[in-house]
Amino acid sequence: MSHAFKVNDLTWLHDPVNMLAIKDILLGKLIMPLIDLSRTIEHRTPAHPSHPPVIMTVWNDHNEIKKAGKTSFSSKSLSLSLSDHSTTHVDAPCHFNPAKDAPSIDEVPLEDFYTEAICLDLSNAPLKHQITVYEMEQALGKSGQEIKPRDTVLIYMAVNERLFGKPEYLHDFPGLHVDAVHWLADKGIIMFGVEAISPAPEGEPNFKAHMACAERGITHMEGLMNLDQLIDKGRFQFIGFPLKIKGGTGSPIRAVAVV
Ligand SMILES: [Zn+2]
Repeated sequence: MSHAFKVNDLTWLHDPVNMLAIKDILLGKLIMPLIDLSRTIEHRTPAHPSHPPVIMTVWNDHNEIKKAGKTSFSSKSLSLSLSDHSTTHVDAPCHFNPAKDAPSIDEVPLEDFYTEAICLDLSNAPLKHQITVYEMEQALGKSGQEIKPRDTVLIYMAVNERLFGKPEYLHDFPGLHVDAVHWLADKGIIMFGVEAISPAPEGEPNFKAHMACAERGITHMEGLMNLDQLIDKGRFQFIGFPLKIKGGTGSPIRAVAVV
């Protein structure tokens, strides 16, 4: 049986199955399934204690009728005050690297935020645990993937399921031992990403992980969501562009996986 179509024969288009497939392609369902990895930016959303909270207020709304010439209209807009480390964000090298030439977020190449990626399953990590190199190697083996130079590596620790919305969200998260950060850097990655507000457990481990990133020229994202949806998805495209904040030490991102 031949599936070849004649150039002028468009009867195949009328087949309901073909029409549905074309509709799916046009809606992006087949060619670009996107998974949203970002937290919602909202008033007083949980923030790392070292950074100010998100403050969102109504700047103007539809109760106010404005006039331009003979035209009456209303419009609504919000005012935001937030840290450059709010919700889902990426750290810039200058966040922990005191060198004068350490790039701020507006100076980091856009290519670093549009990379190939994998996601490792470390969801069994106990709360407050520092994930070891051995545990990273086990998770990588289980994924059946490899880490390639310039990859982004996302690390699923089931933090949101266990902690989001609770006071413990700011304190009890697991994270990477500093040796695991060096292990990732040894593989030539661009950055890694976690769900928690810090890449390593609270206190000294967190600052060691940040300093290791600065020292090794890699960075990380914090506050990711929906990483569970990436387990067993293999290799995918990661997109998470920062805002062009002059001198920014980080930036909120809209993190997306194209699987
Ligand atoms: Zn950070």
